[in-house]
Amino acid sequence: MNNIPVRGAFTVTAAYGETNPTLWGAKKHAGVDIAAGDRRIFSACTGRVRVVAFDANGWGQYVTVGDGEGRIHLYAHLVRGSVLVSPGEAVTPDVQLGTMGATGNVTGVHLHYQINDMSGTPQDPTPFLGIPNARGVYSPDEGGADESGGESGAGASGGTTAPQSHWAERHYDSLVARGVIDGGATSEVWRRFDASAAELTVGQLLALADKLK
Ligand SMILES: [Zn+2]
Repeated sequence: MNNIPVRGAFTVTAAYGETNPTLWGAKKHAGVDIAAGDRRIFSACTGRVRVVAFDANGWGQYVTVGDGEGRIHLYAHLVRGSVLVSPGEAVTPDVQLGTMGATGNVTGVHLHYQINDMSGTPQDPTPFLGIPNARGVYSPDEGGADESGGESGAGASGGTTAPQSHWAERHYDSLVARGVIDGGATSEVWRRFDASAAELTVGQLLALADKLK
């Protein structure tokens, strides 16, 4: 099942639960940040649009969709005026919600995708997306899904293991390790990372990752 709100290859530029005082103060990152060459944003679920709004200092142009199963899906930082749906409208994963942009509190073009429960508490959205909660470049696996990930659950994160068989993953950590992206776990590095993700095409990112294999 494809619950990914973009089409084609994409980059997770910030995972759920990350900390970055520059961007989020004392809070943890409440969703995942996704950059992609194809900037169309689709609904990740079947459901109904709840809110279409603009928040200049936070989420920018954003849309929320309730899926009828206790989850509210939030799509933030869209291009202002790009939203193609209206509150109350029924949507499916084939419905385009709008266009990825850089409105609100951002450092570059990306989608902030977040799942809240009905009390408004953020949840890790990556099990729903079907990807690991990790930065990296992901692309639909055209060569036929092989086996599940070789190294079984590195990190012992507990909980359910996200299905990875449909995704080819290339870790950005290796780019950092090789100096392609400046090393060190500082907010400055993260800013450069985000800027690169916004400026490079996904194809260029994949090519970079390929070189390091
Ligand atoms: Zn975000």
